Amino acid sequence: MRRKLAAGNWKMNGTRPALAELSKLQTPENIDVLICPPATLVAQAAETQTVAIGGQDCHAAQSGAHTGDISADMLADAGASYVITGHSERRTDHGESDSTIAAKSTAAWDSGLVAVICIGETLAERESGKTLEVIATQLAGSVPDGATGENTVIAYEPVWAIGTGLVPELVQIAEVHDFIRSELTARFGADIAGAIRLLYGGSVKPSNASEIFATSNVDGALVGGASLKADDFNGIIEALA
Ligand code: PGA
Repeated sequence: MRRKLAAGNWKMNGTRPALAELSKLQTPENIDVLICPPATLVAQAAETQTVAIGGQDCHAAQSGAHTGDISADMLADAGASYVITGHSERRTDHGESDSTIAAKSTAAWDSGLVAVICIGETLAERESGKTLEVIATQLAGSVPDGATGENTVIAYEPVWAIGTGLVPELVQIAEVHDFIRSELTARFGADIAGAIRLLYGGSVKPSNASEIFATSNVDGALVGGASLKADDFNGIIEALA
């Protein structure tokens, strides 16, 4: 019942020539394909109308004196239909707290965007046995009341797996995804929790995608490095479709 989602996060990579990759992407009918390019490319990327386009961040306010920031309304106006909130690089580089991320996610919904809300533990937290505690805290604080399967996607991205080539054991991915589903069920009820898509992110590649996608409660992936080239991302799309 949950439509699978292959999501690419280009991060701070790509100028206009990179948009040529979009038209090379496969778009199987049974899954959703999303690319989140840098903000400078959102409008032009959306015009190509090949895949869904998202932002990588938005401000919690829709307009005002916030130099350098971009609002969810602006992303929607540029043709985006999704926005990532709470990516670990935003949490670390910009000190974003769970409450900031919740406010940004609410702004996303207000603009008609789907919020892809990211959570995940650091290596120190995992090694000290705190993973599920951290996940519970981030879920409670970052996901606003009112989340539904239509307005929210949750991405579990262990910080230590992002861009490192390290991937958790499949049982560890399953444990966290099952835990997220049960936490959502306790808070929102089985119908809503059962409709919210859960993505795994962190060093997903064509070579490991199939086994990750076969893991319990994994509805797709949020992919960084391997989303930059259409050949790589197509391998992941094929594994999911
Ligand atoms: P990665 O990044 O696929 O390059 O590990 C994932 C992410 O940060 O979303």
